[in-house]
This record gives sequence, structure tokens and C-alpha cells, in this order.
Amino acid sequence: MKILVINCGSSSLKYQLISMEDESVIAKGLCERIGIDGSKLTHQPAGKDKVEIEKDMPTHQTAIELVMEALKHPDHGVIQNTDEISAIGHRVLHGGTTYSESVVVNDDVKRVIRECFDLGPLHNPANLMGIEACEAAMPGKANVAVWDTGFGMAMPEKAYMYAIPHEYYEKYGVRRYGFHGTSHMFVSGEAIKFGGLDPEKAKVIVCHLGNGASVSASIGGKCVDTSMGLTPLEGLIMGTRSGDVDPAVVQYICNKEGKDVNEVLNILNKKSGVLGMSGGVSSDFRDIEAAKSQGNHLAEVALEAFIYRVAKYIGAYTAAMNGVDAIAFTAGVGENDKASRKAICEYLGYLGVKIDDAANDVRGKMTVISAPDSRVKVMLIPTNEELAIARETKRLTE
Ligand code: AMP
Repeated sequence: MKILVINCGSSSLKYQLISMEDESVIAKGLCERIGIDGSKLTHQPAGKDKVEIEKDMPTHQTAIELVMEALKHPDHGVIQNTDEISAIGHRVLHGGTTYSESVVVNDDVKRVIRECFDLGPLHNPANLMGIEACEAAMPGKANVAVWDTGFGMAMPEKAYMYAIPHEYYEKYGVRRYGFHGTSHMFVSGEAIKFGGLDPEKAKVIVCHLGNGASVSASIGGKCVDTSMGLTPLEGLIMGTRSGDVDPAVVQYICNKEGKDVNEVLNILNKKSGVLGMSGGVSSDFRDIEAAKSQGNHLAEVALEAFIYRVAKYIGAYTAAMNGVDAIAFTAGVGENDKASRKAICEYLGYLGVKIDDAANDVRGKMTVISAPDSRVKVMLIPTNEELAIARETKRLTE
């Protein structure tokens, strides 16, 4: 069984063709600059060289057609015809309050994706374009929507309700949704399997630390809290996002700088985080670490604040679950940066967390990094959102 996984952005389309027998990637690629001059498809068949195809892609529809051509190409193709593809799985950002579980796309699902354009203005329109392009290119094949908000929808009311007038929830769905849901679902599930934990009762905290960053707490694979909110701006300090701030900061900066709310929100999303805190060094954590080691004080504070906030969330979520069995690190920083993992865990001695330095000296490989006598298992679990989407698609279409 071969599943095509599609992740559409407003001007990009990432894809992976996955063989479900051994969960291996048969081919993957990226369409860039869709609808903009200079569009390009980079196609990578497994075990072969990358191919770059420069061709106009005015719409996501033309992008999908090019992907199909690449997948079937006599030289760099990997299938004879599209019938070999059993179904298509799509990452869809926002399912609102309607969808928590992955679902086979029908007209009602498309209506909900459309209704959530306001909640995911950059992603939901692109996600819908990707689905409609696949419907046109492969008529009759099942398309499955896997929601980035899905995992967070299991949160109880006490975790997802904001302490604001209730009418805004009723009228506009203003609540905490959580994002990176596919990653949190995948990593918490893998942590339970790899750590040999009780699948019904395990209390797991996942730290997804990349350019976007979030923490989740789950019991038996069901989310009880997660750090992103109505939008991905809430929670941790990220590459360019501020994470939690007093909302009055927005009004204060508006008044002082003569800016409107949209401009300041744009600053909190795109110019804050470690980029803003470091005085503009970089949104990339490697650059921040390099600047710190050259004595840049603001970069040092940005890194310390990032680590401190992750540790605070782990403490809060341990309280929320009245305990924790495992902590899993994932995504760019979580998978590659042993110093950040170690620094976060140094705050957690009171939980009986002990890191094994030799085991922690690892990148991108599923590993237990805590010492054998650590009271909490700490793990590095590489995330794989495409595989999670493919598994969901298989489950719903087999
Ligand atoms: P992601 O969004 O998951 O792709 O993660 C991207 C982030 O991971 C970037 O800020 C990278 O700088 C960071 N990253 C990747 N490798 C390392 C590393 N070895 N040390 C620190 N940060 C890293």
C-alpha cells in the first residue's frame, strides 16, 4: 500500500510517497514559489540523486500535476501510474471545534476547512487548495484530513477555556486549540512504545522544540494540556514568536509606537522570540548559541529564557497530571541540541530526573537519555509528521 502525504503552504507544497509495508519513503519533494515567478520542484527518489525541475506553477493544481509527472517519470519516477497510490493524506492546520479525529474528506469536511479560514488564514486556504488539486488529479481516490489541532482537542475545558467573557467562545470559538498536534501525537505514542510504558496510563510530556516550539502533556496518549493556544503564538519562546506575554504589552506598544494591533501582532509573531530578544542576532538556535559563545549577552539571555520557559512548562504539566513518567524531546533543537536538553533537565532534579551524559551525546536517533536510576524516563524521539499522517490515512482507508 502506497500513501501520498501532502503538506501545502500558501506558496509551497511538500510531499512524501510512503510504502506502508515497511513505512519507508519511496520519494519526497518540494514545490516552491507556487503562484510566484521562478517556481521550482525538487524531487528526491529514495536512494537516487535529487532532480530539480523549473517550471511555471501558477496554482497548487499545476503543482500537483507536476508532482504526478515526477512520480511517474521514466528516469526519476517511482511508480508506473497513479493507481498505485491508495490514498492521499493531508496536513490540515485547523479543524475548529468540529474535528478532533482525522477524517476522510467529503463536502462537509471541506466546508469546515473553509469555515476555519479566519482561524488559520495562511494555512487553511492552502490546505483546501491541496485537497481540491488532488481530487482533480486523482479522481475517486480518498483524501484524508489530519488536523494539526486534532490532538489538542482532547484537552478538558479547564485547560482550553480562556478566562474571558464566555460569549466569545460561543460566538467565535475563541479557546485554546494547540498546534503541532500530529507531532505530539506521534512522539507521545512512540515514547510509550519505546519506553515500554503503560499505553492506557502513561503520563508523558513532549517538548517539540524547533523554530516553532510547544509542549504537551498527555495521559495514555490523550492530550490534557498543550502550550499553544487560539494561534501558535502562545506558550514557549520560539525562533521568532514571543510565546506568552501580558496582552497589555500589545496596547502599550501600540500607544508608544503609533502602531495598530495587527502590526504589533506581526512583531510578536515574526520579530520576537530569540530573534527579538537577542537584539536581532538570528531566529536560528545554532546562531544564538554561536553568538552566546562569543560573549553576546543578549543571545545568552535569550537562550536561558527559552530553556527556563520549557522547564516551567514541564513543571506545570507535571502538576497538571500529578506526576510524569516520561519526557520526550523532539524537533530541530530537541533532536540535535544536547546542551539545551541537559540545561532543561537540570531544572528537574526535584522530579528525580537524571541525565546520562554519554547517552545524551546523540542526534536524531530514538534514545533513552536519562540514567538508569532516573525517576522519570527522558527520551529523544525524532518526530515524523508525514509518517503519522500516512498511518492515519491507512487506518481510515484500508
Ligand atoms: P525545526 O523547526 O524543527 O526544523 O527546527 C529548526 C531549529 O532547530 C533551528 O532553529 C535550528 O537552529 C535548530 N537546530 C538544528 N540543529 C541544531 C543544533 N545542533 N543545535 C541547536 N539548534 C539546532
